[in-house]
This record gives sequence, C-alpha cells and structure tokens, in this order.
Amino acid sequence: MKVVLKNLTKIFPSRNKKEKKEVIAVNNFDFEIPDGKLIGLLGPSGCGKSTTLYMISGLQKPTSGQIFFGDEDITELPPEKRGIGMVFQNYALYPHMTVKQNIMFPLQNLKGDQKLSKDEILKRTEDAAKLVQIDELLDRKPSELSGGQQQRVAIARALVKAPRVLLLDEPLSNLDARLRLQTREEIRRIQRETNVTTIFVTHDQEEAMSISDFIVVMKLGVVQQIGEPQDVYDNPINLFVAKFLGTPPINVFKGEVNGGKLYVGGSVLQDTPGISDRKVFVGIRPEGFVIDENGPLCCKVQGVDVMGRDISVVSTHEDALTPTVRSIISAEAKPLVGTDTIRFSIKPAKLFIFDGETEERLL
Ligand code: ADP
Ligand code: MG
Repeated sequence: MKVVLKNLTKIFPSRNKKEKKEVIAVNNFDFEIPDGKLIGLLGPSGCGKSTTLYMISGLQKPTSGQIFFGDEDITELPPEKRGIGMVFQNYALYPHMTVKQNIMFPLQNLKGDQKLSKDEILKRTEDAAKLVQIDELLDRKPSELSGGQQQRVAIARALVKAPRVLLLDEPLSNLDARLRLQTREEIRRIQRETNVTTIFVTHDQEEAMSISDFIVVMKLGVVQQIGEPQDVYDNPINLFVAKFLGTPPINVFKGEVNGGKLYVGGSVLQDTPGISDRKVFVGIRPEGFVIDENGPLCCKVQGVDVMGRDISVVSTHEDALTPTVRSIISAEAKPLVGTDTIRFSIKPAKLFIFDGETEERLL
C-alpha cells in the first residue's frame, strides 16, 4: 500500500498559560512512500517522529494536511478502520494472557463481515508466530520471555490482521546491543517476506541506515532530506544531516573559500570553482583521510585505536569544531611510531563544504 503525506502538520497548543508558545511538532511533511518499502524515519529526540507516526495511525489528528493510503484519503478515518499494525518501544503485551492469546486478541475483536471462524483465527495466529519464530513459545506468559521474544510477539500481534501499513516506533530501544542487531535483521526479513509497507522510527542512524530502503531525516518537525541511505550519506544536503549520519561522526572544521580555493588553517585543501568567497564549514568523513607526508592537512597526533581491520588515528586540529579529529585508515598503512604531527590528503568525495551561515551544502 502506497502511503502519501500531503503538507502534514501538527501543532500542539502551549501548556504554559503565561507564555503562549505553541509547538510545531511536524511542519509540512510531504512524502510519497512507495508500496512495499521500508522507510526509516530518523532524527534526534523531539523532532516529531512519533507524532508523524501517530497521525498516520489515527491516534492523533493533524492540524492540517492529508494522509492517503493508495488513492483513499484516510485523514478522517478512525484508527481501527485504517488497517494499520503498530509496535511500540515497550512491548505493551497483556501480562495475564499467553503469547497465543496476545497474538489472537486483535482477531477475536473483529466484528460484522470481518468476523473470523475459530479455526481461521488459530491458523492465522500460528502463521504469524511462525513468521517471527516464536511458534515454540505460544503457551508462555510475557513474563517468561526475553525482551527480544516479547518484541517478536508484539510484531506478530501487529501483523496478524494483515495490516495495510506497519508502523514501528523505536521498537528496538529496550533491547540490549546484540539483540538489537539481531532483531533489526529480523524486522527486515519479516518486512521482505510480508512486503507490507513499513515505517520504522528510530533516533539511531545506524539502525535506520542498515535496514531502510529510504531514510527520512527530520529536525525540529521539518524534513531535512529523503533518500536511499547511501545516497544521503554520500550527499548530505546540510551540516545537520552530515553530522547526524555516520559512526564515527564526520569531522567538521572552520574554513574559508577565498579566490576559488578552500582553506583550513592556512592550507589549501582543494580548488572550489564556482563558490564565491565566504566563511564555510568543512566536513570530512573519517574514511576520507589518507596519510600523506605532502598532504595539506596537518594534525597533532593524540593516539591510535586499533579496530581490527582498520586503525583509527585520533588527532587534534586548531580549526576543528570537535575536540578530536577521527580518521579511519586501513591497518595495512605504515604504523605511526613516535610522530607528533601527521599530514593527510583528503579524498574529494568524502569532503563536503557548507555555508558558514546557512549551513547548507555548497557544490
Ligand atoms: P520524537 O518522537 O521525534 O522524539 P515527538 O513526535 O514525540 O518527537 O515530539 C515532537 C515535539 O512535539 C516535541 O517537542 C514534543 O515535546 C512535542 N509534543 C509531543 N506530543 C505532545 C503533546 N501531546 N502535547 C504537547 N506537545 C507535544
Ligand atoms: Mg518518539
């Protein structure tokens, strides 16, 4: 099912009576989510991710704008008629029911011509349990399950009604690191098998990058950039997006464009034809540094972290906005013994220039 958001906006009135400052939680969200894709909705806490999801689910009413499922305008449709499945961070299972009862619960509540026979309910429940690989656990209570297993039950319960759209709000945040990795792969597999259009909300860029067909990066209620994860990583539209994606994060320097050249700390990093003179921010991805004794960027070495396949050189630079500059170098590079300073040349595709005022990318 294709999902279309048209100028979707949510404004919350101020809670503070004296200072009437309303919150624009979601501001003019425009996006067409293609059928059968997994969309990662990504941004820092408070940027409007959950509010967007709640409007799609019908739990919250937009202040303005429209939502379509396919060609049908569902903006005024109550949640239970939208055909959505929803999974939250806290698994929200019924504690007194078994796994089986939890999963079949949405089916038992169907009314009228949607009503199912007992056999059909049982079959669908077992199919959903198999899909998320908990069919061995059907008779247990939620308290007898691990966090990862509980979240699988919640996913099965969301899928059992064969929803038109699956909405996941930070579903992995309560899991420990290893389970988080495993469960996100599972969500990807389940999404591929069922082909249900899915919106996955997370503040974790790595999570969103690893499983999404498209990511939507949000900041303060405003969509910043939409694209395939690798494209957004390789072509961030502004400094915020560049900083939000990537681990270790991008290194940012104060710089200047002058006479068609890009300067950081007095050295020319590259030619910048077409960019007029101005102050800029220069973002360099950690994998963009090449150790080069004739390279233009000179940093003070602080240490070297060995990370197996790669080494990470930690250094400092006067014009860096972060306390340290992190570069990732192949472990086959010459070891740095007893050097105080290190010179780098920079891979052009890994360097981005942003306007010093607007922080928009300059090309
Ligand atoms: P996220 O899920 O990205 O962390 P939310 O969508 O929950 O962000 O919130 C977006 C903004 O809207 C925040 O500033 C939040 O404080 C505000 N907000 C969310 N829900 C309400 C509400 N019911 N009343 C007032 N403000 C709200
Ligand atoms: Mg949220």
